[in-house]
Amino acid sequence: MSTSEQTPTLSFAELGLAAPVLQAVNEAGYETPSPIQAQSIKPLLEGRDLLGQAQTGTGKTAAFALPLLSRLDTKLKMPQMLVLAPTRELAIQVAEAIQSYAKHMKGFHVLPIYGGQSMGIQLGQLKRNPQVIVGTPGRILDHIRRGTLQLGELKSLVLDEADEMLRMGFIDDVETILKETPAERQVALFSATMPGPIHRVASRYLKDPVEIHIKSKTTTMETINQRYWQVTGMHKLDALTRILEVETFDAMIIFVRTKNATTELAEKLEARGYSSSPLNGDMNQAGREKAIDRMKRGKLDILVATDVAARGLDIERISHVVNYDIPYDTESYVHRIGRTGRAGRKGEAILFVSPREKRMLFAIEKATRQPITLMNLPSTEDIADRRVTQFTQQLSETIESQDLSFFETIISSYTQEHNADPIEVAAALTYLVQKTRPLKPVIHKTERPAREDRPQRDSRSERGSETRQDRERSPRRGAQRSEHKPEQDMDSFRIEVGKNDGVEAKNIVGAIANEAGIDSKDIGRITINETHSIVDLPKGMPRDLYQQLRKVWVNNKQLNITLATGDIEHGTDTRERKPRRTGKARTRPRDAARRPGLKRKSV
Ligand code: AMP
Repeated sequence: MSTSEQTPTLSFAELGLAAPVLQAVNEAGYETPSPIQAQSIKPLLEGRDLLGQAQTGTGKTAAFALPLLSRLDTKLKMPQMLVLAPTRELAIQVAEAIQSYAKHMKGFHVLPIYGGQSMGIQLGQLKRNPQVIVGTPGRILDHIRRGTLQLGELKSLVLDEADEMLRMGFIDDVETILKETPAERQVALFSATMPGPIHRVASRYLKDPVEIHIKSKTTTMETINQRYWQVTGMHKLDALTRILEVETFDAMIIFVRTKNATTELAEKLEARGYSSSPLNGDMNQAGREKAIDRMKRGKLDILVATDVAARGLDIERISHVVNYDIPYDTESYVHRIGRTGRAGRKGEAILFVSPREKRMLFAIEKATRQPITLMNLPSTEDIADRRVTQFTQQLSETIESQDLSFFETIISSYTQEHNADPIEVAAALTYLVQKTRPLKPVIHKTERPAREDRPQRDSRSERGSETRQDRERSPRRGAQRSEHKPEQDMDSFRIEVGKNDGVEAKNIVGAIANEAGIDSKDIGRITINETHSIVDLPKGMPRDLYQQLRKVWVNNKQLNITLATGDIEHGTDTRERKPRRTGKARTRPRDAARRPGLKRKSV
């Protein structure tokens, strides 16, 4: 076995990939080959066998898919490439990745095949003559034995996550499949670890393979505090936004994988009020230097970068490194977080880790010889506390540093003319300044808080009535009533989600509050029935709001809200009609905020 000494210096264009594959890679926004890709692509293109020790997240799918796809003959309607994966999820994921890399290859078909799916469906799909099959070993073997999968034209076989296949007891099936394939086929075996049985398979079935080992250097970084957030149940962007709210940072660098992601994320952060810029290899030298210079001078707080673009970056101000996408290898991680803690300062490193990337996390801990501690995301209360603290600090600073005499005159004449309490005036001013960034933040729908921040369901109401406040304490109380009468000053609305959709009162409140901008305290009683629910909302709903609410989605269903009471008594078909304008003035959208009952949130 020979070891490749190649370093990741060649670009994708220089590696000799087929034109349609290269085009797909460029469109995916991959800037440079990851280390495993830089080492695997050439030998695989040359038809060599390969033994790669690498984990998920290193870019190993593209490492084998790009060169092996480049060698396919799409005119030949027979399986030419077979990928064996330990789980159905991985098989699907790999098939999807392959499809995306082959999207410009005319006449190309890839088929995932796994246990649990109907044989009939799979037989039908096999008749479409896919050139690439990705499957779990058991089911693949079934098809081989039934004669429904012909491997006579097979050019390459990939064993993905071989140690997992061993752990799950598939190694015998894998060997049987290997024996069923033509002797001259090319084999690529990837495994995170190399236990004995995998090594034996490798030495028995691989011919003089190129051996690739994504090494992990060990490093110590005492000045950097490292934390990770387990990506679960919340969008990464929302998690990042919460972190940005509470972390005290001077300047931050956020690492993502693709050039496209640098611009997308920088734009989203900019829209959320953070001065951000992308930093990627597509930007010309002048553009990159400008961004770096702006950050050095404090004109820019966040750079969203790819590994390549941030190489060697030395900005003292960088107090935080966020690994929004996990790096391919421990060396990249070490390099990334080394952008903080410069010049003897302290630094913070935060890593987003999805469950499938846990192994990389352990490898990083080992390489840095430092524990990476699990971090909890800040709760809504943490964010509110933080905003209030920042606000009061700003107040003190303004009082200390600004000449306020002109403003004092205005307020003092206002208080005299209106006989107003200065505290109340200050409170009104506070209300005005916090409108775009409320001191009591409302969580956006995609920012679903962790369970513990949500109102407790089972706490008891001490009042006899079932009011909105009551529901806030015990969201399901309303739901248990079978008869629904609207509360005072409220209309009842029917919405087309119910128990059968798994909906709970809190989902309805959250969606209506967030999507339609209605204050949650203005949402009244909710009754959840099997197929629909009834919710009370303040009388006089503006037409545009009504239209907006019809389109809101809860538990994968549109609300399709319709008036259920009040106007029914006037004999109107509430299913079809829009809320009408009665003798009572119906509130126009722009007046909504003035009505005591129905307030549009300013966020
Ligand atoms: P894998 O290790 O194959 O599971 O890949 C992990 C992730 O890295 C996938 O989301 C790929 O789309 C992405 N990826 C693979 N290669 C590159 C590359 N050269 N540049 C940027 N992202 C990549």
